[in-house]
Amino acid sequence: MKHKKLIITEIFLSFQGESTYVGRPTVFIRLSTCNLNCKICDTIYAKEKGSKLSISEILNILKNLKTKYVCITGGEPLLQKNIEHLLKELLKLDKKISIETNGSINIKNIDKKIKKIIDVKTPSTKEEGSFNLENLKHISKNDEIKFLISSKKDFNFALSFIKKHDIQRFSIPILMSPNLSKKSLPKRLATWIVKSKIPLIFQPQIHKIIKEEPIYLLKI
Ligand code: SF4
Repeated sequence: MKHKKLIITEIFLSFQGESTYVGRPTVFIRLSTCNLNCKICDTIYAKEKGSKLSISEILNILKNLKTKYVCITGGEPLLQKNIEHLLKELLKLDKKISIETNGSINIKNIDKKIKKIIDVKTPSTKEEGSFNLENLKHISKNDEIKFLISSKKDFNFALSFIKKHDIQRFSIPILMSPNLSKKSLPKRLATWIVKSKIPLIFQPQIHKIIKEEPIYLLKI
C-alpha cells in the first residue's frame, strides 16, 4: 500500500497551535484540495497547490524525526481516499496522530486511536450548514470539536448547536477559537464563555500569536 499516492501541499515541523495537543513539537502534513469555500480561510494555498507523493516518500521524510506528534491537516484531508493507508502506516510508527477536518466529510472510517479535531463551521465562515450530522455517531472520547468564533452571532450559533445535539454527552473538549484578526474578540469571547456556564475551552491559535517560522521538510 506504500506505493499509493496523496496530493501534498507541504510538510513541516512546528509546534501545535491548537487542540489539547497545543504546544507540542509536531510534524504537519498538509493535504491539498478542499470542498468548502469558507469566507475566512488561512490556507487558500492548500486548495490550489500540491504534488503527488507516495506514502513511502512521505514516510521517508518523517523517518529521522524524533517528534512524537503528527498532525494531518489541509485543505480537507478526508477528501483523498488514500488517507486511510497513510494513517495506517503512521499508526505503525507509534506516533500520536491527530487529523483536522472541516466536519463536512464522514469520519466513520478513521481509527479511534487517531484524535479527530472536527470543525463546526459558524455563520461568519458562510459554510455554517456544512456539518455532516452523521459524524455525531462516530465521535469517540479521543476527539475534539472546534468552533471558530468571529462574532456574538457565531458564539450563539455554537451554543445552540451544542445544546441541540447534546454535544456535552460525549465528554470531549469543545474548543472556542477566537478570530484573532478581530482585536477585541478574544476578550469578548472569554467573557461569553464564562457567562455560558458550559465547560468550553478558550483556545486561541497560539501559532498566530507567536508567528514562528516553521521548519519546512517539503514545500510545494
Ligand atoms: S475548510 Fe479549511 S481549507 Fe477549506 S475553505 Fe474552509 S478554512 Fe479553508
